[in-house]
Amino acid sequence: MGIRAEHLSYTYGGGTAFAQPALRDVSFDIPDGQFVGLIGHTGSGKSTLIQHLNGLIRATEGKLFVDGENIYEKGYNMRALRTKVGLVFQYPEHQLFEIDVFQDVCFGPKNMGLSKDEIEQRAREALGMVGLPESFYKKSPFELSGGQKRRVAIAGVLAMRPKVLVLDEPTAGLDPRGRDEILDRVKELNHSWGLTVILVSHSMEDVAKYADRLLVMSDGEKRFDGTPKEVFKHYAELEALGLSAPQVTYLVQKLRKAGMPLSDEITTVAEARDALLPLLKGGAPC
Ligand code: ADP
Ligand code: MG
Repeated sequence: MGIRAEHLSYTYGGGTAFAQPALRDVSFDIPDGQFVGLIGHTGSGKSTLIQHLNGLIRATEGKLFVDGENIYEKGYNMRALRTKVGLVFQYPEHQLFEIDVFQDVCFGPKNMGLSKDEIEQRAREALGMVGLPESFYKKSPFELSGGQKRRVAIAGVLAMRPKVLVLDEPTAGLDPRGRDEILDRVKELNHSWGLTVILVSHSMEDVAKYADRLLVMSDGEKRFDGTPKEVFKHYAELEALGLSAPQVTYLVQKLRKAGMPLSDEITTVAEARDALLPLLKGGAPC
């Protein structure tokens, strides 16, 4: 049934005279199983918005429905919401604190009051999902690389078996390989498990590659909402918001202007390669 936001607004600091709203009148509907990329300049309200989704922040105005239930209704089970909507913060490695990787991933299911067997089974399953084999279980989180730490943090949330996984810039500061490994895994879970994913990202390449849909924020407002192809057609307007389209989009636009018969819907390197190769082999003018 998904997540439905109706006219969400939020102001930090209890709305004092000088407070600027961090979110203004944001509405959207995210169906189950969708992979959503959330983009916007720094300070546009992305982190504020996602903290609403599992009840960490309560909207100053507006309504939020998760699986058809109004989460602001009296008696709503916020604890259950936090397991249903799993949130991985930016730089989650700062929150790894248990003695070893396995204990760390057990932390969430332990808090859910599950049996020891169930806790351990979930931890194993979650570590498998993020591609960390048994040889990692007894390692201290501090012995791991940046990408491995992120994966442990994601496993800690997956072990609660959420329906929705929200990731706040999970690849910031990682090398390209670590980045692709994490996002490939997440896409795989989205695909095979029907997990809804909301990915906050600075990388237009990443959201073009992985997301079914993009929400673009600017100054606390939702500015664009559509498939990556629809949204990146507005690259000039995105630039005015301090954003850009994937680099390959600019190359394709240039080639189109030079007369090459290319679609204006190309947003990934793989698509550009597939469109260009036959033209180059055919000796098309450029
Ligand atoms: P983003 O994640 O897109 O960078 P944020 O949601 O962090 O944006 O910030 C949105 C706005 O809210 C910014 O103007 C930011 O300065 C402000 N803000 C964020 N967190 C706090 C906070 N804890 N207290 C006061 N203002 C905040
Ligand atoms: Mg942020």
